[in-house]
Amino acid sequence: MEKKQTINFGAGPAKLPQPQVLLQAQKELLDYNGTGISLLEMSHRASDFTRIINTTGQLLRELLNVPENYRIIFLQGGGSGQFSAVPLNLIGLKPSRCADYLVTGTWSAKAAKEAEKFGKVNVIHPKMDTYTKIPESSTWSLNPSASYVYYCCNETVHGIEFNFIPDTKGVVLVSDMSSNFLSRPIDVSKFGLIFAGAQKNVGCAGVTVVIVREDLIYIMSLVLEWVKNNGGADAMENLNKKKSGMIYDIINRSDGFYSCPVEETCRSRMNIPFFIKTNTGDETLEKSFLDGASKLGMISLKGHRSVGGIRASLYNAVTIEDVEVLAAYMEDFYRNFRL
Ligand code: PLP
Repeated sequence: MEKKQTINFGAGPAKLPQPQVLLQAQKELLDYNGTGISLLEMSHRASDFTRIINTTGQLLRELLNVPENYRIIFLQGGGSGQFSAVPLNLIGLKPSRCADYLVTGTWSAKAAKEAEKFGKVNVIHPKMDTYTKIPESSTWSLNPSASYVYYCCNETVHGIEFNFIPDTKGVVLVSDMSSNFLSRPIDVSKFGLIFAGAQKNVGCAGVTVVIVREDLIYIMSLVLEWVKNNGGADAMENLNKKKSGMIYDIINRSDGFYSCPVEETCRSRMNIPFFIKTNTGDETLEKSFLDGASKLGMISLKGHRSVGGIRASLYNAVTIEDVEVLAAYMEDFYRNFRL
């Protein structure tokens, strides 16, 4: 009896072009290009492999007309990996540390939830009971000081697809195109970053494509230039000694009101943990210390949850003037609460 034909309508991993792609893949899995070994056995440093990855990138650049100032990167971790990689890398682009998320289905909802771990997330329209539409763009209240606007171009679970590119008025636009990548032309220049798990339209599970505008991966280079223009590592060391010295000095002069549990010889210049009133801290006093600091515009002074107390992080970009504000506040707090 003739075997019944199987037709795969899966949402991903999904059908690959047959027989062309699968037959060729089968051949290369047995013997890659006459090398006598399988593609699966090949070193990821071999020139053959470099050629494959470069050709793949080049093909994608051609097919989507990816401009020169965009990098194409192949990563692991799936589309879901990008739910955290995107905010980790981009939510700090602006001091607001916030991002607008257009939630139109399961995948953008998951991405928004993940991003909440890294900064403030505005779901820019009220939560919908059912995902059956894209709310009218005139109802979106986009925040101009957001670091980026995020949307899922095609919601795989609910079957909702954007047939337009959101206008973000200059704010960096990020899109999850996992399930409609390369299903139509797209103007890449409108985006800061596009990502797509490959297992739907462009391959099999295990690879995620990221197309990212170069300036968004050069924050580190900008910071390094800033360090260079400000005297390099030597100057940073002098500043950091001075800044941390100001805080440790107050701790040492406070007759135990402030106590740092770390031995003097190995006290960090970057992160200064300390307790108030007792060696293990007084929760009520520490809360009022944090509240008072916050009223003066000093945030993120709460100690790590595994340690408690207070922690002042004095990285390179924290200025002497910033530390003077903290030092003055610590002196005041000491005078008011030492008894
Ligand atoms: N985004 C969309 C639109 C998806 O359809 C999926 C998975 O189906 C994901 C993200 C998650 O991708 P992964 O399973 O590669 O983590």
